[in-house]
Amino acid sequence: MSSLYSHFDVIVIGGGHAGSEAAAAAAQMGCKTLMITMNLNAIGQMSCNPAMGGVAKGQLVREIDALGGLSGIVSDRSGVQFRMLNRSKGPAMWSPRSQNDRALYAQIMREELEKKENLFFRQDNVTSILVNDKKEAYGIETQSGQQILSHTVIVTSGTFLNGIIHIGEKQYGGGRSGERSSTGITECLETHGFTSGRLKTGTPPRIDGRTIDYDKLEIQYGDDDAQPFSFLTDELPPADKQMTCWIGYTNNDVHGVLRTGFSRSPMFNGRIKSTGPRYCPSIEDKINRFAERDRHQLFLEPEGWNTYEMYLNGFSTSLPEDVQFNALRTIPGFENAFMIRPGYAIEYDYFPPHQIKRSMETKILSNLFFAGQINGTTGYEEAACQGLMAGINAARKVAVQEALVLKRSEAYIGVLVDDLVSKGTDEPYRMFTSRAEHRILLRQDNADLRLTEIGYRMGMVTEERMQRFTRKKENIDKLHDLLTDYSVRPEVYNPLLESKETAGLRQTMKLPKLITRPQISIFEMIAVDENLRESVHAITTDRNEIEQLEIRFKYAGYIQKEFEMAEELNRKESMVIPTNLDYTRIKSLSTEGRLKLSKVQPETIGQAGRISGVSASDLAVLMVYLKN
Ligand SMILES: Cc1cc2nc3c(=O)[nH]c(=O)nc-3n(C[C@H](O)[C@H](O)[C@H](O)COP(=O)(O)OP(=O)(O)OC[C@H]3O[C@@H](n4cnc5c(N)ncnc54)[C@H](O)[C@@H]3O)c2cc1C
Repeated sequence: MSSLYSHFDVIVIGGGHAGSEAAAAAAQMGCKTLMITMNLNAIGQMSCNPAMGGVAKGQLVREIDALGGLSGIVSDRSGVQFRMLNRSKGPAMWSPRSQNDRALYAQIMREELEKKENLFFRQDNVTSILVNDKKEAYGIETQSGQQILSHTVIVTSGTFLNGIIHIGEKQYGGGRSGERSSTGITECLETHGFTSGRLKTGTPPRIDGRTIDYDKLEIQYGDDDAQPFSFLTDELPPADKQMTCWIGYTNNDVHGVLRTGFSRSPMFNGRIKSTGPRYCPSIEDKINRFAERDRHQLFLEPEGWNTYEMYLNGFSTSLPEDVQFNALRTIPGFENAFMIRPGYAIEYDYFPPHQIKRSMETKILSNLFFAGQINGTTGYEEAACQGLMAGINAARKVAVQEALVLKRSEAYIGVLVDDLVSKGTDEPYRMFTSRAEHRILLRQDNADLRLTEIGYRMGMVTEERMQRFTRKKENIDKLHDLLTDYSVRPEVYNPLLESKETAGLRQTMKLPKLITRPQISIFEMIAVDENLRESVHAITTDRNEIEQLEIRFKYAGYIQKEFEMAEELNRKESMVIPTNLDYTRIKSLSTEGRLKLSKVQPETIGQAGRISGVSASDLAVLMVYLKN
């Protein structure tokens, strides 16, 4: 084998969402980095829905941005519609979501990557990882016959490893529609002792937007005061400058047509054996599992500014194409719909994530990192944040620095990585707010306050971002001092309180006490109180900075309680377990506890406590053993 290429610090295999963030991070941190991917024209490709964020996923994108990653900036610049989901619930649930121009997203991601001076690109298919006698990865081998050497390797192969596409009775090899699958990496890693598994996911048909009867659908507008993902984005377009989405419904007739294809469905005739995303089921799965429901909601979403192609969210399917077509034409508004691309399912290899450490480095081979769908997750955001962490930690490995591990109380990213490593997954893992026990601390609005300084210490955050952040923090501190001491007077506030049907003030009181009432907001108070308005605006007019204080005062009790719980958890996290501890020597452990601890090899007592099958008494035994 020849090697025409010099030695790299980091090689990233893949140019999807994990690969893009990994390569950008490693290069940003000064590593000579190579992104090698099967198709350079598909960097940053949104394989499924052209959308970013949503419940819990929006929080992930905000965190990626706060740490200096790219997904937030690219989403803001390529968005066609922006909404804040769950506004009617508490701030822990608010989640930004954007509908994106698919082609523009990929184009801007490529542009942003090309701005990184240490980053090199190559189109090729990696067939194996080079491993030395010390069980260290030291490069890659490609289909075109090149060996390229590096200090570290990050695999972000997505849905491509031995991918098989299913449409009804048809099945063929593919990594996603229109792209080849990849072979070699799974087989190579298995020879080094890795275990692989199979998962599946699916996507809906794409429709020619000119053939839809929009009068039969409900229109859905974006937000007028849309909130960006990136803390660097100042403003997004108002609702009338955004594109609209549309809502429609299936009915019993549609379900009847879909059922005619069940016997030819790879989902039901046993051809697809692997597990799919439970929370993102196909339409055939939905009508099968919820047979009593006579309709399912569908979202018709634009694919971009300059195309009439539309994405039919909620209608993911791998039924035969004729069944897809007939069912589609039975949906009200779709009677004349032209199907541009049929829906399909894909099965692919993944590596159960108990095989990686919380740094994303594999346990079996050092200097080798996994990120994204290969770890059993689903979704761009889940992939992107893993890529970012793998990129940061590969760079830190090169610099012989300790890995960055975010705590569960610090970031959704910390929750995701810890869940994967401690609990593993045998179905595609997606993020939910319910997975985070400290979600009132991990809000989308404060992602920068939680993570920007960490990103700066890592060398990820630019001076420009840091300066903006410092200004924001100073403003928030000043606002905090002002509002904590501010007195609200009955004659100014009672008309507002009465209009909101809440009791008027009998005497002057401090602002933080009044603002705990759910009926009123800080912005309404500013609107009626000229003195307050002038004092606040002398510090800042930024809506987000002012809102930050409102949340702090309104939810002060909850926030304090969660801080205390987080501190307790962090105490356990600081109790480190030595690597490769031989659990068979700890006799008093339960059999299941011993097995699970040996398999996962937790890094801290806190992590050990989260492994299912490890009981409280196992934990007590382990703590006594370590003390002795
Ligand atoms: C059909 C389909 C349906 C999906 N449905 C959903 C859904 O409903 N909900 C959801 O949240 N997510 C869905 N996704 C998943 C989403 O696309 C992924 O989670 C996300 O793209 C994963 O990012 P990634 O970076 O891990 O991998 P990908 O985005 O898949 O990128 C993988 C990259 O690796 C490269 N690559 C692979 N092997 C090699 C090799 N040997 N050599 C060189 N390069 C290689 C590829 O060229 C590609 O650039 C779906 C994906 C597909 C394909």
